[in-house]
Amino acid sequence: MIYSDFQGLKLSRLGFGCMRFAADPSTGEINQETVNEMFDFAIARGVNYFDTAYPYLGGKSEIAMAEALKKYPRKSYYIADKFPGHSLPGPVDNIALFNLSLQKCRTDYFDFYLLHNITEWSVKIYESDEYHIIPDILKMKEEGKIRHLGFSFHSGPALLEEFLTRHEGKFEFVQIQCNYLDWSLQDAKKKYDIITKHGLGVWVMEPCRGGRLAKLSEENSAKLKQLNPEASDASWAFRFLQDLPNIKVVLSGMNAVDQVEDNLNTFEAHQPLTEEERSVLFEIADSMKKGVPCTACRYCCDGCPVQLDIPYLLSVYNDYKYALSAVSGMRLDGLDESQLPSACVQCGQCAHACPQSIDVPKALAELSEMYKNGPHWAEAAKARHKEIRKDLNMD
Ligand code: SF4
Ligand code: SF4
Repeated sequence: MIYSDFQGLKLSRLGFGCMRFAADPSTGEINQETVNEMFDFAIARGVNYFDTAYPYLGGKSEIAMAEALKKYPRKSYYIADKFPGHSLPGPVDNIALFNLSLQKCRTDYFDFYLLHNITEWSVKIYESDEYHIIPDILKMKEEGKIRHLGFSFHSGPALLEEFLTRHEGKFEFVQIQCNYLDWSLQDAKKKYDIITKHGLGVWVMEPCRGGRLAKLSEENSAKLKQLNPEASDASWAFRFLQDLPNIKVVLSGMNAVDQVEDNLNTFEAHQPLTEEERSVLFEIADSMKKGVPCTACRYCCDGCPVQLDIPYLLSVYNDYKYALSAVSGMRLDGLDESQLPSACVQCGQCAHACPQSIDVPKALAELSEMYKNGPHWAEAAKARHKEIRKDLNMD
């Protein structure tokens, strides 16, 4: 196992993400035997980092993780959990919710704790005086119940820079979606650089983009097989991340023992990519993108009569074109109506100014429709409101 040094801790670079445990489709019950088997196998080969979150698997992930870890000494592994500020039914007793997670994880402290899913929308809740989340979580840290504090982040580089600047000194690490596709599609390179510049550690989620990079199209997989017929598609995605020195932990949401074994083999030793291998990965990434080639040069912005942040909207458009998701929608949920794509008056100025010849008005009209009809976080979060209210005896 490759290890990272983080403030004197030795963290396995492959972390176990606990959001995809195999469960019975009809009952939702997690197959605990498989979880135990995967954990035993991973721990025997050096994994010492386990990442869960309050809402994962309908609240059952924390419990299944704790069950599988109970036979190991508490100091032999690190656990990470997250505060669900993005799913709250309103201001709640934050400390009671935090303590509930401790209880479900059968521990009295978290080695790592994160504010879950910061975006343009959720940041307003996390920073609200009424919700009082950040001061309460900092108090838990002062009391030693949190050893290291971070946040997971799903939005663009501008908000990341602003949030880190506003909260300088409070956080020690940031978890971002990073892989060879999102390196450009979700600006992961810029985010990696910003986090590194602020002196914080980078944690990675979605290293295989929800499995899409672990099972490429036949054509793309064949390109990788030409480089190494034995290597799995997933191993290339992990090796891309191994080359980035400030990535301390790469979380993989594993759900089968053979997947754990394949990932462990990749993390046995650092195998740097050659220039040729890297360019094949970027070629594959380009073939998977379906959006517009906006370079965020901003040449189109000054002349926009309604002053839209066009590159920002196009980056959400590209996300949506890849896969409609409620988390991408959250990036628009946080904007005022005057900043939404529906505010575009279709004057066409931007299309003339764009050196990439992007038909911006058309893309914004399409984005507006996708946003209107697509999944919305507020809807997805409603189911969690009920769970949180029940867990905190609020009704
Ligand atoms: S077409 Fe829309 S986005 Fe482009 S300049 Fe006009 S109003 Fe702004
Ligand atoms: S001018 Fe074109 S490439 Fe530049 S930010 Fe605007 S849309 Fe993107």
